[in-house]
Amino acid sequence: MTEKILITGITGFVGSHLADLALEKGAEVHGLKRWNLSRLRNIRHIMDKITLHDCDLTDPIAIRDIIKEVQPDVIFHMAAESFVSPSWKHPSHYMDVNYNGTVNLLEAVRLAGSNARIHLPGSGEEYGEIYEDEIPITEKTVLRPVNPYAVSKVAQDLIGLVYNRSYDMNVIRTRAFNHEGPRRDYVFGIAWYAYQVARIEAGQQEPVLRTGHTADRRNFTHIRDMVEAYWLAAHQCEPGKLYLIGSDENDKVYTFKEALDKLIAMSTVDNIQVVQDQKYVRPTNVPRLIGDTSEFRRLTNWKPTIGFDQILLDTLNYWRDFVKNNLY
Ligand code: NDP
Repeated sequence: MTEKILITGITGFVGSHLADLALEKGAEVHGLKRWNLSRLRNIRHIMDKITLHDCDLTDPIAIRDIIKEVQPDVIFHMAAESFVSPSWKHPSHYMDVNYNGTVNLLEAVRLAGSNARIHLPGSGEEYGEIYEDEIPITEKTVLRPVNPYAVSKVAQDLIGLVYNRSYDMNVIRTRAFNHEGPRRDYVFGIAWYAYQVARIEAGQQEPVLRTGHTADRRNFTHIRDMVEAYWLAAHQCEPGKLYLIGSDENDKVYTFKEALDKLIAMSTVDNIQVVQDQKYVRPTNVPRLIGDTSEFRRLTNWKPTIGFDQILLDTLNYWRDFVKNNLY
């Protein structure tokens, strides 16, 4: 029987790539969009292959009807306020979307008596203040979130655990480290650098690239590898248990500064200057997030296949095309 997949946040970075993957796997794909807000550019290429439902997850009513109507087998819950920087100014809104929105989804599934598997994508950001001797991070590492976004993701994860323990619901809990690639919005570090390089190459910006803090170190995974991992997680992971996902190979651990230097080296323009702009510097930083993902890999045999330079090149080429063809 054809598997029914519901993707909240289908118009976003991860949700749109998950939709591509689910279609490749032969699934029937449903997605949520906000009737007057959603940007559809990430899913324009598959609009005739998916079914969209209008739903803002902060309102509990619409999602109840949608769960009853669609009766999904698997739900990938990718809807979120996902960008750290604005979360200091909108801490309540981040809880409304990331925590209350998740409660609304879980309640809708519970009330429908559905046994759908619900994937909640936690974030490495939840660990926050991690000391050098705590690297690599494991499922047992203490959480010390240092921004409102991260707190809202901890709350999302824990309410998922509560629904699993209280109602025996099939909540799949993961925490993933940075994933990057085409379609990630240009407000995020690597996408932001690549977007500016593309604009500089197109003569739309002087050769001065503005950044925030670039010293933080991360392990990076290509979005295509990450959605494969999420697919495996949703189908194979044990409900209620926590799994870390990401690249932990040494050749995928870099600082944002190293990523920036590589992107500049890939540019067709010489002598791009880099300027740190206070406007992009956050009140707190998360200097290091490197995870140990062996538990997830043992279970699923997942392994990232795409190297860091390719992640950067795919991102840069995406923004080159975007800027050239004015795809705003
Ligand atoms: P994006 O910001 O690209 O996408 C967010 C999606 O959520 C968009 O489709 C947006 O829709 C939707 N959305 C926002 N608010 C609402 C709402 N009130 N009701 C319904 N839909 C809403 O994020 P990503 O794709 O990068 O992230 C997906 C998930 O993965 C998030 O939970 C994020 O925290 C998590 N994650 C991401 C990581 C990364 O490196 N990318 C790392 C770890 C975790 P619209 O078009 O309407 O704005």
